[in-house]
Amino acid sequence: MHCYVCAETGVDSEAIAICIVCGMAVCKDHLIRADVDMWEGGYPFPPHKLKKKLPRVLCKECYSALVKQEQ
Ligand SMILES: [Zn+2]
Ligand SMILES: [Zn+2]
Repeated sequence: MHCYVCAETGVDSEAIAICIVCGMAVCKDHLIRADVDMWEGGYPFPPHKLKKKLPRVLCKECYSALVKQEQ
């Protein structure tokens, strides 16, 4: 599978992860691993806070939409 972001700019690089939000395949330059413990919109997790934050892979677009705006 190829990185979606790179493919859009004509670059052929191999994707190593999938954004859990939009499902886009991304290479190491376009993924962001973020520790996210709260999700809007009813992400299927138990309502109580987990003791450990879960690292999740996001693409840069989803990261700025979901994580950055909370800060
Ligand atoms: Zn890429
Ligand atoms: Zn995404």
